[in-house]
Amino acid sequence: MKKVFVTFLLVSAFWIMAVFPASAEGYTTRIGGKDRFEVAVNVSKQGWSSANTVILANYDAYADALAAAPLSYRYNAPILLTQPGVLTAATKAEIDRLNATSVIAVGGPASISDSVLTEISNMGIKVERISGSNRFEVANNIALRLGQSSKVILAYGLNFPDALAIAPYAARNGYPILLTNTHTMTQGTRNIITQWGVNETIIVGGEGSISREIANSVPNPSRIDGRNRFEVASNIANKYFSTRAQASVATGMNFADALTGSALAAKRNEPILLTSSTSIPNETRNAIINNGYQSFFIFGGPASVSDGIYNSLAVSIVGKTIMIDAGHGGSDPGASGTTSGGTKLVEKELVLDMSKRIQSRLTSSMSKVLMTRTGDSYPTLNERVAQANRSGADIFVSMHVNSYSTSSPHGTETWWNGTYESADSKLLAEEIQKELIATLGTYDRGVKHGDFRVIKDTKIPSVLVEIAFVTNKGDADLLADPTFRQKAADAVYRGIINYFNKQ
Ligand SMILES: [Zn+2]
Repeated sequence: MKKVFVTFLLVSAFWIMAVFPASAEGYTTRIGGKDRFEVAVNVSKQGWSSANTVILANYDAYADALAAAPLSYRYNAPILLTQPGVLTAATKAEIDRLNATSVIAVGGPASISDSVLTEISNMGIKVERISGSNRFEVANNIALRLGQSSKVILAYGLNFPDALAIAPYAARNGYPILLTNTHTMTQGTRNIITQWGVNETIIVGGEGSISREIANSVPNPSRIDGRNRFEVASNIANKYFSTRAQASVATGMNFADALTGSALAAKRNEPILLTSSTSIPNETRNAIINNGYQSFFIFGGPASVSDGIYNSLAVSIVGKTIMIDAGHGGSDPGASGTTSGGTKLVEKELVLDMSKRIQSRLTSSMSKVLMTRTGDSYPTLNERVAQANRSGADIFVSMHVNSYSTSSPHGTETWWNGTYESADSKLLAEEIQKELIATLGTYDRGVKHGDFRVIKDTKIPSVLVEIAFVTNKGDADLLADPTFRQKAADAVYRGIINYFNKQ
């Protein structure tokens, strides 16, 4: 899937690895720093070897800078932060490194003092200030600086998450971000909309942030909604960045990293997803799974986005689509046998149980799982193959238990077929078989080439797993044990991870 981006991913992977120590598992990179100034500087270093223009904002007053991202993109300018009274040393050094000739300070003298501007001026750099009597006017003045647009973004001005989440999309398209209160919009903002002849307004946030009355008062409104900041950011990603393979992630609890990161996210044409500091909210998780994001920039240090989050995003199966085929079902029970205690076992039930356990592991690791069946139904072999071939899935794993006409054969084997994706199918079979044997301690019957329909006609890398023999008493006793079936599922899960690690 997403072949279009493969070349880009490869190129960016080398580029990332050249600059940062690469994670072995994926292309997930943290752009951290001991404080927000340093995070901003590191974002700038990641994205720019030089820059004519730098956007400068106050380090703890987000109001003025909310609308700055489109300006940053227009001038290919990183966004750096400063203290109000004195130019922060790390920021000054970065302006030097970039060889900037121009700095645009966003905000009035209370945000960035005249003495800071003088200090920059003394570096031989042209300085411009965009300010206003309030945040709405600053946003208007940034919009006027960007120039006329027939389409504008309208975001809630009294908080930062929505305006920053829309920033990469607004920036790339040159749409200014205008700000409003929930129930009142300033006359200055209305004037811009009228004078420009705006014919489309994208409203970001729920009606609790921007009321229906405000929405109805602007030209041709469409709303990107959400029950919370995480969902709004996710919905922006779903709407505008669903075909991208990469995303950036920042804390949704503080503005600084998302603001300075938005300049890089816009440049890389990727969404900013928001997270809490120690766990990824479900809304964000779903956006990752459904859009298939596989490569991430994390903006901020571990206090903002924990190492646990970093680690979970770095797993090789994040954003991958995996089809699990529980063999047989419905009118086709598959093989059957009895345990030494006399309990009857039926293949279709055992493999559905294990398939669901695999599904659960994969889903919690942010893979998208497609199941050929989730209940006691029987999709034909042709239907299973057709499902796989139209799925866009990365791999196909068919789950079975084995049988024989006598009771002695036992053990575990994994099958692949050389018709399509031969090398990857074989690798997947090897990785799964290795984990199964190491985990289950069953007899190793090996990896085998075979002509089963679901692996022969399936055009994506595909394997057929035979966990153990239901017709052998020892194996049947194992299969009857839910702990064993969970271990088998865990082993298949790890085999899949190892396979993607070797891609
Ligand atoms: Zn079977």
